[in-house]
Amino acid sequence: MRIIISGAGVAGPTAAFWLSKAGHSVTIVERASVLEPIGQNIDVDGGALRVVQKMGLHEGLKKLNTTEIGTRFIRNDGKGAYASLPLVKGRTVSPTSENEILRGDLAMLLCSATRDDPNVRYLLGTTIEKIGEDQGAGGEGGLSPPLRVQLSNGDSEIYDACIVADGQWSRIRKEHFPAPTVVDKNAYIAYFTIPRTSVDQGWWELYHSLGSRVISTRPDAQGTTRGCFMKMPLNKEEKAVWEKASRSGSREAQNSLLKETFQDAGWESKRLLEGMVDARDFYFQALKQIRMPTWHDETTGRIACVGDAAYAPTPISGSGAVLAILGGYIIAGELSQLQAGQHPREAFEAYERNLRPYVEEVQNLPSFVPGVMMPRTWWQRTLLQNVIWAFAKFFSIPYFQPKETRHDESAFKLPLYPAFEKEGEAGSRMVDGNAA
Ligand SMILES: Cc1cc2nc3c(=O)[nH]c(=O)nc-3n(C[C@H](O)[C@H](O)[C@H](O)COP(=O)(O)OP(=O)(O)OC[C@H]3O[C@@H](n4cnc5c(N)ncnc54)[C@H](O)[C@@H]3O)c2cc1C
Repeated sequence: MRIIISGAGVAGPTAAFWLSKAGHSVTIVERASVLEPIGQNIDVDGGALRVVQKMGLHEGLKKLNTTEIGTRFIRNDGKGAYASLPLVKGRTVSPTSENEILRGDLAMLLCSATRDDPNVRYLLGTTIEKIGEDQGAGGEGGLSPPLRVQLSNGDSEIYDACIVADGQWSRIRKEHFPAPTVVDKNAYIAYFTIPRTSVDQGWWELYHSLGSRVISTRPDAQGTTRGCFMKMPLNKEEKAVWEKASRSGSREAQNSLLKETFQDAGWESKRLLEGMVDARDFYFQALKQIRMPTWHDETTGRIACVGDAAYAPTPISGSGAVLAILGGYIIAGELSQLQAGQHPREAFEAYERNLRPYVEEVQNLPSFVPGVMMPRTWWQRTLLQNVIWAFAKFFSIPYFQPKETRHDESAFKLPLYPAFEKEGEAGSRMVDGNAA
């Protein structure tokens, strides 16, 4: 089949790799004219880790590890930590996992796996302008007509299916699907890179300032520090201001709101604010989940959403990349199962049957999240800090440290597809971790 994918983030390149392996011809259009490694820590575990291993990218993943040694929580006066949760191999003690990687590095690594693949064509700085049915062509074997896709570079091309992997606010989704349910978790996050100083010791450090403001720094594999501000608006007026800044897409407006909000937040806030203004990367996100009634379109049955475009779970779920990788793998797997005369709709239905129960589980965050981790008043903060302190003390005792289960498939059993298993796994394929 000829398949077009919109978006070269995490889901898009994963789908492209597996579609190519099954012999399909793939075009990926990406809005950005240069692929840049933007974004901070994401988790790659469970079935998604297995997919990455099957792609032969495990060595690359390890090479790009952010080198984080654990998570610690900073005292109110900013002088040292009151609780530490070091990374313990084989144990689930720390929020820091063994596979810490930056979102941008992972996206580049996944792209590197198909960069030189003759079945995969990347069109950077290009978007899909319009999708319609190619009435003139007629479908093979009595199927509905294929898609005629108008690209922003002026080309008009024919495809059997379109995979929409262009993120949380996909324009194609808006045009071809009913409006999704957007679950607002009422919080905003800003990510950016700043120079590393001697203060940054290789830990993920979290500081809870009052007024539902959280500041964090994390190491990366590039020798810099990843800064982050998180904020929950406290009332309707604040909410309106944050929402306006978020929707404006203006870095200037977002930076100025962050400066106003965090200038008196304590700890490293001044350094982070200064660094943020000069940062080469800056990413601002409203924590909102996307929930679609169905992931493929009713009209043609040839357009399907994957990853954040279909089911953004928000960074607090820790599973955005996991769902994107699983989605890319499964949608490609189901398309590769189609026999002559079968419509892509059947593959899209099977993709949804396979993945939806797990997506719903992941998106089902308790209503007190993220509020409980972003205290507003001193007593909420004191309570939270006491819980964190007790938790860290308890789990510092090796006997009580639970076994690591994040890397096995207990949460989601990965389906296997004959077309992908043909030559065994691509385990020996070495992809340079520095490809990013
Ligand atoms: C720049 C950036 C930084 C991020 N940082 C973090 C982070 O630090 N932590 C975290 O938990 N999550 C982060 N996320 C979200 C995270 O990547 C997703 O939750 C998850 O990985 C799902 O991946 P995805 O491939 O579905 O979507 P994304 O990773 O969002 O990728 C979508 C891709 O589509 C492209 N695109 C958008 N519109 C169009 C269009 N019209 N036509 C063609 N291409 C288009 C985008 O440029 C992007 O490359 C970030 C996302 C982005 C885009």
